Amino acid sequence: MTRVSIRHEEQPAPSRAPARRAGGRANAANDAGEAASSAPARQAAKRPGPPPGQVLKYYISAEWRYVALVMAFGIALISINSLSMPPWLPLLLAAAATAIPAVTPHLMRLERDIAQSNVQRIGAMALGVGLPMLLYGAAIADWVYADARMSWSSAVGVLLIVGTVAAVMLANRMLSVFVAKASLWTGMIVVSNTISAFILLGTGIAIAALAVKRQMKVDLEEFERQRALERRQFRAEQLLSEYEQTGQGWFWETDRRGALTYVSATVGRVIDRDTKALLGRPFSDLFILDADNQEGERTLNFHLSARSSFQDLTVRAAAGEEERWWSISGRPIHDDFNNFIGFRGSGSDLTEKRRSQEDASRLAHYDSLTSLANRFQMSQTLEKILNSPRLEQRACAVFLLDLDRFKQVNDTMGHPAGDALLTQVAQRLERTVDKAGRVGRLGGDEFKVILPGKIDRADLARLANQVIESLSQPYSIDGHRVVIGASIGIAISPDDGVTSEALIRNADLALYAAKDGGRGRHHFYAADLHSDAEERRQLEQDLRDAIASGGLELHYQPVVHTTTEKITGFEALLRWTHPKLGPLSPAKFIPIAEDAGLIAQIGEWALRTACHDLARWPKTVRVAVNVSPLQFANPSLPAIVTSALASAQVDPSRLELEITESVFLNDDENTDLMFTALKRVGVRLALDDFGTGYSSLGYLKKAPFDKIKIDQSFVRGATMPGSRNGAIISSIVSLAEALGMETTAEGVETLDELDLVRMLGCSHIQGYIYEKPLTAAAAAQRLTSGLIAIAKGPRSARPTRQKMLRKIVLEHGGLSYHGTIRNISTTGALIEGLWNVPSGTVFTLFMAEDYAITVTSRWCKDDRVGVEFAVPLEVDASGRISTTPPRQSRVLIDNQAARLAG
Ligand code: C2E
Ligand code: MG
Ligand code: MG
Repeated sequence: MTRVSIRHEEQPAPSRAPARRAGGRANAANDAGEAASSAPARQAAKRPGPPPGQVLKYYISAEWRYVALVMAFGIALISINSLSMPPWLPLLLAAAATAIPAVTPHLMRLERDIAQSNVQRIGAMALGVGLPMLLYGAAIADWVYADARMSWSSAVGVLLIVGTVAAVMLANRMLSVFVAKASLWTGMIVVSNTISAFILLGTGIAIAALAVKRQMKVDLEEFERQRALERRQFRAEQLLSEYEQTGQGWFWETDRRGALTYVSATVGRVIDRDTKALLGRPFSDLFILDADNQEGERTLNFHLSARSSFQDLTVRAAAGEEERWWSISGRPIHDDFNNFIGFRGSGSDLTEKRRSQEDASRLAHYDSLTSLANRFQMSQTLEKILNSPRLEQRACAVFLLDLDRFKQVNDTMGHPAGDALLTQVAQRLERTVDKAGRVGRLGGDEFKVILPGKIDRADLARLANQVIESLSQPYSIDGHRVVIGASIGIAISPDDGVTSEALIRNADLALYAAKDGGRGRHHFYAADLHSDAEERRQLEQDLRDAIASGGLELHYQPVVHTTTEKITGFEALLRWTHPKLGPLSPAKFIPIAEDAGLIAQIGEWALRTACHDLARWPKTVRVAVNVSPLQFANPSLPAIVTSALASAQVDPSRLELEITESVFLNDDENTDLMFTALKRVGVRLALDDFGTGYSSLGYLKKAPFDKIKIDQSFVRGATMPGSRNGAIISSIVSLAEALGMETTAEGVETLDELDLVRMLGCSHIQGYIYEKPLTAAAAAQRLTSGLIAIAKGPRSARPTRQKMLRKIVLEHGGLSYHGTIRNISTTGALIEGLWNVPSGTVFTLFMAEDYAITVTSRWCKDDRVGVEFAVPLEVDASGRISTTPPRQSRVLIDNQAARLAG
């Protein structure tokens, strides 16, 4: 306890916070930074206060030794004054008295190191202070008594001098002063040995004791005040030190020249320099104020030279390779006379904040999945190009890209697979576009490419094709082979728009057109796309209404067994009669339903309706229902099928599901699981439109199909001389037979085609040659007349027609009629613009001024007339019907011209 309070005396002021030390010495400032956490400081923190009445200081001061000199000086003074030497006893006493203060260091050691308690220390003080004074007082008094030349006045004078000097040397040590003085006078009084002197001494001691007591009280109060002050300062220092050590912030101080006088140790650690070595260096040495940070540099230098305060200035720490940022604040400091003495301030680490700000900014500009520019960044890029100061720099082209079948991958293989696919798509896209433009992802499976500059349409088309080709190559995702496609809409500035909104809207329309045109292709924007888009939007709305109001119907087309010519089943085909547009082909509205997310609802309705109708047909007859790939990807399809069968109470083997090859594009296990689940339900499976899509036959090995439906594009034209379709049909049949599957030839229209597919071994036939799709009622009616089907139709196919929009002149009976050819084949044409033409009327038709042919009307309806050519037209090398005069026609024209002239 005592030691602690002693230390307090020797280091009366604890380390000071920089805040209290404006203009202090450099190293002192640094000490302050570290002292707060030093061991003594920590001990001091735990230090309890001394109990009341405890000594506050050592009793013997280091200066006590000078009293020996004063004592000797006193003896010398009296000797000179009285011109006598002290007798041996006073001399001995005085020598002993002088010897004791002369060894003050030993006395101090005795008090500080050897004494164990306060009492012992007081004892040491009595020995070191009281005893010499007692001996000195006695020596002087004895001398006065022993030598008549001595006067009391000089003796008392010397004692007063010694007593005063002793009091000064003991510097406020009240008890020691009291002991010193009391001993001095006691020594004298004991030798003088008078009662009055003793009384005087006693009174003096009593008064002095009271004074000492009061002074000790005052000391104690002062001590408490000091301690409270120190505690406050210490707490402040601790808080600051902890604040510095946690790295949250740091402090700095400069002198008037801008050199550092204090800086927290944290700063040294961050910039990897010795904190002490930083003192005296310019404040700006702590930062990298380079070209990148000119703003910060200018501001800091300005404030330092203007001696003005600054707040939250962002500066880069001189931390070498690693990028670290600080926010610094500072204010000028002035002395009591308002002289500027430097700057003082604080700093805090901004690095994390800046990083998260950078991350946020990156997130705001880049797509986190693919690292491509995001929608925001892309529109900024486009805006920048379109607002370039120079007109020629504003030219650019925009590709809007949509992945075909991406949704299926996402739905069937899960989002992580979808994400992996998008990442690969992004990489391929960037590789293909390369330096030609900037690629971005707008979200989902939508991408955008901005190609600056004026680029040829042909080059744009080439690039678009390359992109589609690259994105359509198979992907490997989690070991699965995945195939998707891409459609691209292209808009060019300034042709298709000069604002980004117009350009994007038009590219979007072009993208729609590309998707509408069968996907996997690109489409340039054209003005008429606006009406297409509007039409499509309207159709989608009408389709929703039709679903809600029961406007959809199923028609049934018989499927006939080739050899028995008996109906084995019907294919259910959707029909929608649009209120304004009339009957619409499912080939037109099913893609709209798929895009609009309506196909699940429509598909389920078709399944339930077909099963319901099937329940009323003979047991030997089946129904085939088309299933969209989107329905196939829905895991609840087996449950829907089961429910439809159960509610109609029909045997599952009577239901056939027609699936197209596109379900195999993504060779994932969900496809296999779906097949297994459907087979478990017990339904039959048919592969529809075989040969039109996906080319790999591998899937046929494992997919449990009962039937392959040969697409009508193979049947069509198969009977034409030189056609290879027959060979293709034949090999499909062999393949199906080998796999134990039936075959249906679709779209058989003529007797020749029927003969051919029969000969090629197809087991079933579906086509107009037997029946067109019938309403449910007509199908039921048809079944009442038995299952036998009779082929009815033309022997061979009608020559193909070509659409045409050509103004012509027809002459009959000396009158000319103007008309427009709407379509043409080698044998006839449909002409618009003539009313009420009787069948069999012969005209001269002028294809051109110098080319006329003879035609006969065969039918007429409203303003349309069908004519048959007297001589079939020729087909040119490109397969188009020739409407220019052949050699013999020229002769004909010449003849006719001569006749007309004659
Ligand atoms: P699909 O499944 O290949 O159906 C056969 C198509 O060929 C039907 O066209 C049918 O009317 C037509 N067709 C049959 N025989 C002949 C013929 O001798 N000559 C010609 N020129 N055509 C013939 P439709 O009804 O227009 O259906 C077109 C496609 O729409 C269907 O092709 C099918 O893929 C789809 N579709 C029809 N109904 C549904 C349905 O309920 N759900 C789904 N997902 N798709 C359907
Ligand atoms: Mg079908
Ligand atoms: Mg088909």
